[in-house]
Amino acid sequence: MTRPSRGTLRKGRVCVVGSFNVDHVWRVASLPQPGATLAGEYRSGPGGKGFNQAMAACRAGAETSFVCALGGDLGAQLARALCSADGIDLRDTECDLPTGTAGIYVDAQGRNSIVVGAGANALLDPGFVASTLASVSGTSVVLAQLESPLDAVQEALRIGREQGALTILNPAPANASVAGVLLELADILTPNESEFAALLGRHVGERIESDDVGSLDQGRLHALCRQLGHDSTVIVTLGASGCFVSHPDKQLRGDSTAYCRISAEAVRAIDTTGAGDAFNGALAASLAGQPHLAFSEHVRFASRYAGLSTEREGAALAMPTQSELNARFNPD
Ligand code: ADP
Repeated sequence: MTRPSRGTLRKGRVCVVGSFNVDHVWRVASLPQPGATLAGEYRSGPGGKGFNQAMAACRAGAETSFVCALGGDLGAQLARALCSADGIDLRDTECDLPTGTAGIYVDAQGRNSIVVGAGANALLDPGFVASTLASVSGTSVVLAQLESPLDAVQEALRIGREQGALTILNPAPANASVAGVLLELADILTPNESEFAALLGRHVGERIESDDVGSLDQGRLHALCRQLGHDSTVIVTLGASGCFVSHPDKQLRGDSTAYCRISAEAVRAIDTTGAGDAFNGALAASLAGQPHLAFSEHVRFASRYAGLSTEREGAALAMPTQSELNARFNPD
C-alpha cells in the first residue's frame, strides 16, 4: 500500500487559544544579584506558548486562528504585524492591561532567571473565547495551554468538543490548580516529563521524579497515563529521548497498539526553547490536515518538526516552514 505523502499537508483549520508575550532577553556573564547593575546583550521578540504554537501550526501547514488577549500598546501592534505576515487569523480582545511580557536573563552557562508579566493574557475572558470560537467555521482542532485563565482554557476545550473538533491540551506550564474536568475535556494531553510528574502527583496520587519518567517501564508508564487521562490519548514528550504515546483501549486512533515509544529525530540541536510548542503546533496541523493517517504518523511528523526547530535559535520566529522541513528531511 502506498503511504499518503507527508510532503504537503492539506489545509485544515486549527484554532489556538492562548498567550502572546513580548520577550525581553539579556545575555549576561552571571545572573544579577540584588542591588547589582550589569551590562548585558539585549534582544527582544515575540513569545508566549499560545503564539509559538500558533506559528508552528501555521508554518506546518494549517489554516490557523489565534485567540488571545492583548493590550492597547506596541506589543499588540507587534502581534498584529507578525500574524499578518504569516497569514495567521488573529482574533484578539483588547484589554486595559499591557500586552504580556517576559523578562529573561541568560548567563554564560545558559542558566536563566525569568519574570513573566501576564498582563492582558490574565484577562482572556471565557465569554470572548466562546463567542470567537463559535464564529470561526470549519475548525478541526482546538489547541490550548495553561498560560491563560483556566476558565478560558476550559471554555475553549468545551466549545471545541461541542463543535466536533479534536481538542488538545498542552498542560504547560505545570499548574497545581488544574482540575480534573479540564483534563477530561481534552482528547489529547501533551505534558512534558515535569508536567506529567506534576499531574500524576495531583490527580493520581503518584510521586515520581520528572527525571525518572523517561526510564519507566513502558507498561507502567501506559498504566499511569491511563490513570491520568482516562479517555484521552496522552503523549508524554521526553526531549531528545522522543515521546511516549498512550491511548485508551477503546480509542486507538488508527494505531495498532495501545502504547508505543517514538524516537526523536537525530538533529544538531542548538536551542531547545519552544521545542514543546513546535511539537504541539505541528501535531495539531497534521491532525487537522490529514485526519485519515494513523495517530503515530502525526506524532512522527510533530517530532520531526520539533527536532528541526531545535536546530535554530529562538521560538516563534524560528518555527520551520513546510518547505524547510522537506528540504531538511526529504531533500529529493
Ligand atoms: P518541552 O519543550 O515542552 O519541555 P520537550 O523538551 O519534551 O518539550 O520536547 C518536545 C519534543 O521536541 C520532543 O518530544 C522531541 O520530539 C523534540 N525534541 C526536543 N529536544 C530535542 C532534541 N534535543 N533532539 C531532537 N528532538 C528534540
